[in-house]
Amino acid sequence: MLRKLGIGIMAAAAIVTLSSAPGATAAPAPAPERVAATTLYYDDSRAGEFKGAVAAGAEQWNSTVENVTLVRAPAGTRAEIRIIADDGWPRATLGPVRPGGSATVWFGRQAVYQGYDPTRIAAHELGHSLGLPDRKPGPCSSLMSGSTGGVNCTNATPNATEQAQVEANYGFAASRIPMDGRIVVDAP
Ligand SMILES: [Zn+2]
Repeated sequence: MLRKLGIGIMAAAAIVTLSSAPGATAAPAPAPERVAATTLYYDDSRAGEFKGAVAAGAEQWNSTVENVTLVRAPAGTRAEIRIIADDGWPRATLGPVRPGGSATVWFGRQAVYQGYDPTRIAAHELGHSLGLPDRKPGPCSSLMSGSTGGVNCTNATPNATEQAQVEANYGFAASRIPMDGRIVVDAP
């Protein structure tokens, strides 16, 4: 009984810590404490009809984490993340990709044909670019649960755990993990 209560208190403390993390609501803005933040560029020149979804998916990350920012690359400039529309299942290079590095998101139409939400797909695949693996099966509240969140799931916002992991991936040098580089395929 005491043990159970103790775990409950610890869990509550963890939730408070995560939900009060800086950047949960603030829009990206230059500030001294953000000097070390990472900017990653994405190239949507081959994203076809999904450019809007990609921008919306990137904004989901930009509005919830502050250690990394996703910026659409100006035409003809180098980008760390290439977005390519194709007819397969969505898939992506597992990051975390670093400045000067290279990762690809294939925005597979197969998932869109099946009815999955394009913005959720974009945010999920960019989550792979930022170093998050799949968390399947999982609920709709989890971005990285992907298709297992259900075909009607439109949640494109990373949950507190997913935000915290990306913050860690791009935060302090000691917590940085190397880019994985494997291709993650999001077929159901
Ligand atoms: Zn995935």
